[in-house]
Amino acid sequence: MAVVFLGISLSERNQEKQAFKQQLQNNADIIRRSFSVAFKEQESQMLLLASFVAADPEIQELFKYGTQMVRVEGGAKGAGESSRLRQALLEEVEASWKQMQRDYNLRQLHFHLPPATSFLRVHQPGKYGDDLSDIRQIIVDSNRLQEPLSGFEIGRIYSGIRGIVPVWYTRQDGSKEHIGSLEAGTSVDSLLSNLAEFVDGDLAVLLNRTNIDGAVWSEYRTRAMEACDCYIEGQTDTKLESWLKSGAIQYPAVTDMKTSVTTLTQEQATYALVSFPLYDYQGVSKGPVGRVVTWQDITPAWQKHQQGIGQLELMLVGSYVLVQLLLLFLLLRLRTLMQGRIDQATSAAKSANAQLMSVLKDSPVVTYSLEMPANTLSYISPNCLELTGYCDRDILDTPDWWLEHTHPLDQHWLVADASPEPDSTRRLRYRLRHKSGSWLWLEDRSRLVALDDGSQVLHGALVDISAQQHAESALASSERTLRRAQTIGHVGSWEYQFADRIMTLSDEACHILGLGQSSDADYATFISRVHPEDRAQVENAWHEAVQGGDYDLEHRIVVNGEERWVRSIADFQHDDSGILLATGMVQDITRQKNREQELHKLATRDMLTGLANRRHFMQRMAQEQARTQRFGSPCGLLMIDLDHFKQVNDRFGHAAGDEALKLFARVSSAQLRNIDILGRIGGEEFALLLPGTDMDGAFILAERLRQAVEGARIEQYPDLKLTASVGVSVLTLDDSSSDAPLLRADRAVYQAKNTGRNRVVRSDQSQD
Ligand code: GH3
Ligand code: MG
Ligand code: MG
Repeated sequence: MAVVFLGISLSERNQEKQAFKQQLQNNADIIRRSFSVAFKEQESQMLLLASFVAADPEIQELFKYGTQMVRVEGGAKGAGESSRLRQALLEEVEASWKQMQRDYNLRQLHFHLPPATSFLRVHQPGKYGDDLSDIRQIIVDSNRLQEPLSGFEIGRIYSGIRGIVPVWYTRQDGSKEHIGSLEAGTSVDSLLSNLAEFVDGDLAVLLNRTNIDGAVWSEYRTRAMEACDCYIEGQTDTKLESWLKSGAIQYPAVTDMKTSVTTLTQEQATYALVSFPLYDYQGVSKGPVGRVVTWQDITPAWQKHQQGIGQLELMLVGSYVLVQLLLLFLLLRLRTLMQGRIDQATSAAKSANAQLMSVLKDSPVVTYSLEMPANTLSYISPNCLELTGYCDRDILDTPDWWLEHTHPLDQHWLVADASPEPDSTRRLRYRLRHKSGSWLWLEDRSRLVALDDGSQVLHGALVDISAQQHAESALASSERTLRRAQTIGHVGSWEYQFADRIMTLSDEACHILGLGQSSDADYATFISRVHPEDRAQVENAWHEAVQGGDYDLEHRIVVNGEERWVRSIADFQHDDSGILLATGMVQDITRQKNREQELHKLATRDMLTGLANRRHFMQRMAQEQARTQRFGSPCGLLMIDLDHFKQVNDRFGHAAGDEALKLFARVSSAQLRNIDILGRIGGEEFALLLPGTDMDGAFILAERLRQAVEGARIEQYPDLKLTASVGVSVLTLDDSSSDAPLLRADRAVYQAKNTGRNRVVRSDQSQD
């Protein structure tokens, strides 16, 4: 309201001031036009006076001969004769000059020779012959154009309003000859005093110092002023001069071509100052040569104007106060009315709040409002006391309370989710320290709501989920333990639903069967992992188990091209609805199997040569004997003793002897079939069973074997030569134990040794 009134007040004041200014401006325009008209009138008068003098034939003649003589006598001034003629011309115009000075305020009468040389200054006869073409353009122009010209111009002696006319000499034949020009000039003083009356004020003509300094002879520069860069060419009063000296006003810039209107208050009087540029004969193109200044005492009008403004302001202040009072009254009425409504609404809100509080008090859900992005809690429901042990004031009054009470490992959840998207829901789980020091697990669900004022609020609800969290973590921990146990024991579990043919496998079961991360498979996938040779066995066991049999077997599987052993046990049960469900476990027993095989090998094999050891050979021989007994199938038996083996050791060392034993095993095995059984039954003694081979076949093989041994060499010991003595025998139906055939073969060896070694000898079967 105050701004509106201030605005109106300032606008009214401005209008008043503008009107006053406009009035001054109009006045200034009138003054400027009047000055211009009066100036032109003076110019015409000067032209008229010059024409009057120039029209006199006596004067024309004297001027003509004077100028002729100057040319004859030479120089700009001429000499004696031209001086005489100048004097005559002066005397001729003397009377007119004096009368014109008196009647028309004429101040200057000047004859010039073309182009602009002074011939006679009637107002200053002692000064002549000087060239004026640099500063007096009006003379140059008039002589050149041979036409009358008028205007203001600054001269050598004084400046003023000039009228200049060509002077002609009329010859005998009536023709005219141009002699030069005559100039009549007057000062601005009379013009100013005439105008002063008209404008009811005072005037002054100020000339720019720079224009004066270049033109006026120094002895005539009497009106220079130090206060400003100007000359006071004319003034009707000295007030302006004193204002310029005191600095009350400044002489405007010489280039200022505008009319300026200002007011000046000095010694309780107010003046309207009007100033406009003064141009010389050459006009606007040359720029102003000075300024015309007028000042009018406008004290009464000014005071009236100020009073008007004062009254206006008073009126505005009065009406402002009145309107304010009215508004105040209305506001008070409105306030009483609104207060009633607010009281009503407050009591309704209070009762609603009380209801809400009572509901919230028993609610396990704590609600809150968080101002964003400041991240400060602006509200939390009072039941936070039950949840956290702290009352709402403790929480709301402390900045960052929530973050500081959040478990250090969970704080990143709150910080990371500190600037959610508008209208998005946020669901966090984190731990908060209860006043008792224990940690609570909270579920924090919130939604970001954008308010009309551009801010945002996160409305949230908190629930204690500690019990659920503990149960979940206990479950997760037991699952972890089970998984770990399965991994450690290489035991996987599985379940097969016959209804939907889905097999669900534990992580370890997947790992064992090479099924990657997929915990669901079907029976076909499982079967595809079983070793092809064991597949029939597994499928039989599966079918038997479906029929009610046991499912407990060891079989091989192939995972990533690698053969492994598993033990598979399952329980096939019908559930309450009669659907068959198989629950089983699969254990990777590859290492166990490998160990078993290793032990078996250790128990049956000779460590040095890898051949069957004596015990195992004897077992196998007993089996073969039983077969012979049962089926009557032949079976050859060879006893092999390496020749002079002691010498081999002695000559080449024990290690070489070992190598020789291994060489024998390799060379012999290469000659045998899969079903033949070669065993090391003594240090350098070997026995060979040849199932299905009779005496002749055994003899042939023995001979082949002997030759192979004889020809074999060890790379490291090229001089080591190996030979063997071989005794050949066969198992017979009559043999009651294994000793008899071995004894027969042994005797044959003995014979071979005795008959020169490195030979094969058949046993005499009849010797038993
Ligand atoms: P013969 O031609 O009469 O059979 O002479 P021989 O030297 O082979 O007979 P003997 O029974 O006197 O010697 C057997 C030798 O075989 C004695 C032993 O040093 C050697 N020997 C037995 N077992 C091993 C063994 O495991 N390694 C090595 N290097 N030598 C063995
Ligand atoms: Mg021996
Ligand atoms: Mg020997």
